[in-house]
Amino acid sequence: MTTKTTYKEPGSGAVEYAKTFTEGMSRSEAAVVITQLLGGELHDVDDNRVKSCDYCGYFWRDNSLRNTKKTCSDECKRNLKTMQRREQRANKELLNPTPKEKKHTLMDDYIWWLEYPFWINEYSMIKIGWKHERPSGVALMDYIEAKNTIYGEGNRKISKKTVEYHGDKRDQL
Ligand SMILES: [Zn+2]
Repeated sequence: MTTKTTYKEPGSGAVEYAKTFTEGMSRSEAAVVITQLLGGELHDVDDNRVKSCDYCGYFWRDNSLRNTKKTCSDECKRNLKTMQRREQRANKELLNPTPKEKKHTLMDDYIWWLEYPFWINEYSMIKIGWKHERPSGVALMDYIEAKNTIYGEGNRKISKKTVEYHGDKRDQL
């Protein structure tokens, strides 16, 4: 990362480097110089030891022997590691989300896979059951009667709707 759009608190290495420009200046003079420094106008561009810190984003000068550091200070290095770990975790979570515990639903109380299904919770049974087993005796009889009048008995138009009608005691509610 060489360019940063958001600046954090400068790390101690960046502060040290800025000080070399503002030594002995008044506050207002230093403010101007710091602005130029942040804009990358002050440092010698041929000096490959001057870099923008990978964590805080401020310019600093790498005085290490091999010039391989990426961050201006130990605290920036630590923070960068933490940030990378957090990103890795987030990416991993994105690719391989830990399965969420399934919420218990009313239907879970219905043991439907057995030959004789049954409910293990009466509350769930009533909450679900009334939708499917709504009393429809009179309405159903009226409906069948009306259809019979229109189409005649035994000569029904084939409909997608199937009416559960037995024609015996089972229909009396
Ligand atoms: Zn830094």
